[in-house]
Amino acid sequence: MIDIRDVIIEYGRGARAVLAVDGISLRVEPGESLALIGPSGCGKTTLLFSVAGLVRPRNGGIEVGGENVTGPRREIALILQNAGLLPWKTVWQNANLSLLLSKEYPRKTAASVLEELGLAGVKGRFPVELSEGMKRRVGIARALSMSPSVMLMDEPLASLDTLTKERIQDLFLQLWRDRAFSLVLVTHDIEEAAFLGQRIAVLTERPARVKRTVENPGVGDLHYRETAEFAGIVGQLREALEG
Ligand code: ADP
Ligand code: MG
Repeated sequence: MIDIRDVIIEYGRGARAVLAVDGISLRVEPGESLALIGPSGCGKTTLLFSVAGLVRPRNGGIEVGGENVTGPRREIALILQNAGLLPWKTVWQNANLSLLLSKEYPRKTAASVLEELGLAGVKGRFPVELSEGMKRRVGIARALSMSPSVMLMDEPLASLDTLTKERIQDLFLQLWRDRAFSLVLVTHDIEEAAFLGQRIAVLTERPARVKRTVENPGVGDLHYRETAEFAGIVGQLREALEG
């Protein structure tokens, strides 16, 4: 489904060029999840943006659904850290922004997404009137409104308190299981990677390369965090990041 092959990405040219990604190959099958974890500034966002069609690799290629990615596509949704909400639009308008922009009147499904995410009661509010956790959920609602087959997330829950973060992770796990989209999650949070990534690629310092891949078949159970298997994965990730 997602096929990243020998991708090399560089910013700028000549003496001032910055090599951000140095030869990464990864595959994600339909309905699978992959977490990318690595040090700050190593090239995670760059790699994710290349899958979204926003950054073009210097070498190698990316296919989604058997077709080369050459630009943004509506089946590929991207959720950013700050949720990217427009302050002058309501929750409902923000959640349906993609549909409103494409002049496709939001269908009933949009309302049910807000319901599912616990936002139905605040759909007339503006972002400034929301808690941080609610804002992130509006960002998720917006991504889901397009019924994507691929969901890309760039540290979507960074800087939330632990309890809120874990609640949204639980919610997200359920959405992923129900809707069976392919997921690529960029995070620097070890527990988040272990809870949501069926496979976890640990990246090196910049330029990003795959340092180690950890298989994590226990993903999918809401109680996974309480298991010894989960603790083992967290330990492996910590060791891989530090070693
Ligand atoms: P991460 O998401 O892992 O923190 P990024 O992918 O954002 O890392 O950045 C990787 C490297 O590429 C960093 O050194 C960053 O400064 C550099 N970089 C990112 N975007 C640009 C850009 N548009 N132009 C030049 N350099 C960039
Ligand atoms: Mg980043």
